[in-house]
Amino acid sequence: PVPRKKPAAVFKILLIGDSAVGKTSLMFRYHEDKFIEKFTPTIGMDFVFKNITIQGQEISLQLWDTAGQERFLNITKNYYRNADAVVLVYDRTVSSSFKNISRWMKTIADEAPEDILKVLVANKSDLHRLLVVSTQEGQDLAKQYGITFFETSAKLDINNVAEIFDYIAHELFER
Ligand code: GDP
Ligand code: MG
Repeated sequence: PVPRKKPAAVFKILLIGDSAVGKTSLMFRYHEDKFIEKFTPTIGMDFVFKNITIQGQEISLQLWDTAGQERFLNITKNYYRNADAVVLVYDRTVSSSFKNISRWMKTIADEAPEDILKVLVANKSDLHRLLVVSTQEGQDLAKQYGITFFETSAKLDINNVAEIFDYIAHELFER
């Protein structure tokens, strides 16, 4: 077998947001390119690795999931330790998950490394008739925080979920 090359960089990326917004599903979509209808809130994947190549260099993305502790907004400093990026996820069919983004931003400000890269992700865009958070509202919030906004669906892979992680990897690589 070909010996595995050591990656040029390893980036730790966290998924954060209210319970059931689709964090595990987004991770699963990116990692396995699959969608599962019935994830229970406490089923997390701890972390998975996904390797990508940027400018001929192998980059290892370490994606971290929460396993239900987000229900209590109880994400500890430990989880945020050495994190390079955080994906803030809300569910476009649940307005409280959108309102809580400001609370998640606060825990990140309190607990995470200061220079952590943040992106905002509006998930479940496939549920057209149930949407209560508009594209404009998402864009406005991201603009207010000065972070990049993605609208997607882990189910139908609208706008390509991989784009989110590609963006993060490139941003971190170029730092
Ligand atoms: P988590 O608690 O944030 O990790 O959320 P999960 O990934 O466990 O998803 C919660 C529920 O929403 C599950 O039943 C998923 O199948 C469903 N779900 C996740 N993403 C989407 C999506 O983009 N569209 C739809 N229709 N359902 C989704
Ligand atoms: Mg989960």
